Amino acid sequence: MSSVQIRDVRKSFGGFEVLHGVTIPIEDGAFVVLVGPSGCGKSTLLRMLAGLENITSGTISIGDRVVNNVQPKERDIAMVFQNYALYPHMTVADNMGFSLKLRGAGAAEISKGVNRAAEILALTPLLDRYPRQLSGGQRQRVAMGRAIVRDPQVFLFDEPLSNLDAKLRVAMRTEIKELHQRLKTTTVYVTHDQIEAMTMADKIVVMHDGIVEQMGSPLELYDKPDNQFVAGFIGSPA
Ligand code: ADP
Ligand code: MG
Repeated sequence: MSSVQIRDVRKSFGGFEVLHGVTIPIEDGAFVVLVGPSGCGKSTLLRMLAGLENITSGTISIGDRVVNNVQPKERDIAMVFQNYALYPHMTVADNMGFSLKLRGAGAAEISKGVNRAAEILALTPLLDRYPRQLSGGQRQRVAMGRAIVRDPQVFLFDEPLSNLDAKLRVAMRTEIKELHQRLKTTTVYVTHDQIEAMTMADKIVVMHDGIVEQMGSPLELYDKPDNQFVAGFIGSPA
């Protein structure tokens, strides 16, 4: 676990600025949800946290380390994407163990990590299956398994549920929250779904066109939106 500090971060693509100085303090162990319309910069910010995108200016720190120039695999972060492509030719166990293997872990360490993750996510009976033999929800749990297997300091989720049907989305929401309550890993979770934000977040960050409009607890935003944009976003149906 670690705090994450995003300080006055800007990002330009080819001279066009898409993030205009974003500051977000994230406490150790918090579940922070970034919301905002499509194109406002949520994924770009997550990719910068993961080290997959350069920071044009500003700083990102994880714990007490500024990570602006730290390679993704040295950041101790795990990311779950919307398109959780599993390796089709690998079993569930191998899918989950792959990132440990890439980092040079031995067989004993890999199997320990995989078994722990499988136990947490109730995947133990499915370890020998292949992705095509799993339901959508099970596949999504394997994708989460791949993320938690390394016991990272920070989890990043980019709209992980948006490809699932409504019923499964509700179930996975609960599951991700329970996972967080159990592991207390600092989490940054991106969604454009207000219900997800309201039910999952310790803190919601409302973004709009590359800036932070407001951040606060779900109740604070609901009770005291700073402006019309926040009120409209938090108050409107999904
Ligand atoms: P969100 O995840 O909130 O929908 P994104 O972070 O994906 O938004 O995108 C923010 C803005 O940055 C958009 O205008 C998008 O077109 C632009 N953008 C994202 N990635 C790139 C890229 N690699 N090159 C150029 N523009 C990009
Ligand atoms: Mg996005």
